[in-house]
Amino acid sequence: MKTPALFQRSELMGALWAFRREFCIVGLFSAVSNLLMLTPTIYMLQVYDRVLVSQSELTLLAVSLICLFLFGIMAIAEWTRSRVLVRAGVRLDEQLGTRVFNASFESYLGSSGASPARAFGDLLQVRQFLTGQGLFAFFDAPWAPIYVAVTFMLHPMLGMLAIVFACIQVALAWFGHRHTVAPAEAASRAASEVAVYLQGKLRNSEVLESMGMVDNLRHRWRERHQDFLTKNGQAQAVNNRVTAWSKFIRYSQQSLALGAGALLVIDGQLSAGGMIAANVLMSRALAPIDMLVGSWRGFVSARAAFERLEDLLQQFPERDPALSRVAPRGQLQLQAVFAGAPGRDTPILKNIGFTVEPGTVVAVLGPSGSGKSTLARVMVGIWPDVTGDVLLDGLPLGGWNRLELGPHLGYLPQDVELFEGTIAENIARFSEVDSDKVIDAARCAGLHEMILRFPKGYDTPIGEAGGMLSGGQRQRIGLARAVYGDPAMVVLDEPNANLDEPGEAALMNTVAQLKAKGKTVFLITHRPGAIGAADHLMILNNGVLVANGPRDAVIGALKQQSAQSQASEPPHPPLTPQPA
Ligand code: ATP
Repeated sequence: MKTPALFQRSELMGALWAFRREFCIVGLFSAVSNLLMLTPTIYMLQVYDRVLVSQSELTLLAVSLICLFLFGIMAIAEWTRSRVLVRAGVRLDEQLGTRVFNASFESYLGSSGASPARAFGDLLQVRQFLTGQGLFAFFDAPWAPIYVAVTFMLHPMLGMLAIVFACIQVALAWFGHRHTVAPAEAASRAASEVAVYLQGKLRNSEVLESMGMVDNLRHRWRERHQDFLTKNGQAQAVNNRVTAWSKFIRYSQQSLALGAGALLVIDGQLSAGGMIAANVLMSRALAPIDMLVGSWRGFVSARAAFERLEDLLQQFPERDPALSRVAPRGQLQLQAVFAGAPGRDTPILKNIGFTVEPGTVVAVLGPSGSGKSTLARVMVGIWPDVTGDVLLDGLPLGGWNRLELGPHLGYLPQDVELFEGTIAENIARFSEVDSDKVIDAARCAGLHEMILRFPKGYDTPIGEAGGMLSGGQRQRIGLARAVYGDPAMVVLDEPNANLDEPGEAALMNTVAQLKAKGKTVFLITHRPGAIGAADHLMILNNGVLVANGPRDAVIGALKQQSAQSQASEPPHPPLTPQPA
C-alpha cells in the first residue's frame, strides 16, 4: 500500500526512523536511571530519620548495601544508553556518509551549492547531537516533574518553591535564547567568512607574494576580522550576562530551599532528614532543566543542520541503482540545449543541437568566451543549469548513476586539477590501481617514458594539487587520467595549452589512437594544428553553433565565405589625400 504524501518520511527522517529501537532502549534506560536518581534522597531520609533515631548499625549496613546496589544499576543503565547511542551514531554515519558525500559534490557543481565540507559539518553536528549529552537532556527532562512531585510529598511549600525556581530558570533560558541566538549566528557567519576569505587567498599565495599584494589584501582581511571580533564580542557579552544571572538563581535556589526547609523544621512540619532530602531533590529536579537549557543552543544548530541536510538530500536524490545500463558506445546527441548561469540574463549556450557518431574526432573552435568550456561541461553532464536533451547513446545523461557513468567518460578540464597521491593513483582516478590499465593510459598519452624518468616512476607522489609537476606534465597526466580505462567518449578542453611541440605531437597521437579504438573525441582548441586530427568541425560564436559538419566541408565553406566577403568589400580608400 502506498503511504500518503503527508505521512511520507523524508530520506533523513527515514534514516533516523530506522533507529527507533535504539531510541526506545535509550528511553527505557533513561527511565531506570532517572528513577534510581531518587536513591540518594531516600537513603538520606533513612539515615537521618531512621538510622540516627534507632542508632541501629545493622539497619545502616542494610540500607547502604541496597543503596550501593541501586547505584550500580544506575551506572550500568547510563553506560548502556551511552553505548547504544554511540553505536547508533557510527551506523548513522555509515548509512548517510556516502549519500551526503555524493549529494554535496553534485550540489557543489551548481555555483550556489553547499560545499562538501559544510555538508559534512552538518552531518557531524546532527550526529553529535543525537549521540551526545544534548539528547540525554531531552530524555531526562520529562522526569523533572517526578522529582517535583516527591518534593511536594515531603512538603507542598517546598514543591511550590521547586516549581517557582523551575519557571524562573525556563524564563531565563528563553530570554537567553532570544537574545543570544542572533549575535552568535552572526559571529559564526563572520568567522566562516574570514576563514573562506583566507583560504581563497592562500591558494594564490604565489601571485600575492610575487607582486607585493599581501599588504593590500591584509587590510581587507582586517576589516572582515574586525567585523567578526565585534560580533563575537556582542554574542559573548549577552552570554556572560545570562550565565551570571543563571548562577545567581542557582545559588539562591539552593540556599533558599534549605532556609525554607529549616523554617518548616522549626515549625515542626518537617524532619531534619526531610529538609536535607528536599534540598537534594530540588537540585535534582532542576538539573534536567538546566541541562536542557545548556543544550538548547546545540539543539537549535543541530536542527538547522538537519534541515540543510534534508534540503540537500531532497534536491539531489539517490540515483536509482536499478538504472544500470549497458556500456555506451559513445554516440552523443544534443537537442535544443540551452545552458545558463546564475546572474546572467542571457544563456551561455543557445539552442545547440548536433549528433556525433562513435569513433568521430570533433574539433570545437571559437573565440575566447564563446562557450566552448561550458559546452564541454554540458557534454560530460556537470553543468547544472541546462535545458534541452543531452543524450548518450540515445539515453539522457542526467539519468545515469554518476558512479557508473564515470568510467565511460574522459574529461580533461582547462585547469587540470590533480590530487594528492601518486602518479599511478591519479591516472587510475583513485580507483584500485590496475597497473596494466595505468601503463596503457600513460602510453596512450605518450607519457610512459617520462614517468619512468621520475625518481619513483609511477609511485612518485605528486604533492598537493600536483604541485611538484610542471604545467605541461600536469596536463599530460590529466590526459592519461582522461583516457584511463578506454572510455567511450573523451572531452579534452584545450589539452595543448601548456604543451610544447613534442607534447602536441604526442597528443595528436593519443587522439589518433582513441579514434582507432572507435572512441568519440571532442577536442576543444585554439591551435589550428589540432584541426588536422579532426574529422568534424564545430565553430561556436557567442554561444551559438555557427558551423558544424565534416572538417573539409566546413573549411571549404569558411574559405568560400571569406572570399565572398573580400569580393564584396569596397576597395580601400587611398591613404594619402588625392589632389582635387
Ligand atoms: P576560453 O576560450 O577563453 O576558455 P570559452 O569559449 O571556453 O572561453 P566559457 O568558459 O565557456 O568560454 O565561457 C563562456 C561565457 O560564459 C563567458 O562569457 C563566461 O563569462 C561565462 N561563464 C562561464 N562560466 C560561468 C559561470 N560559472 N557563471 C557565469 N558565467 C559563466
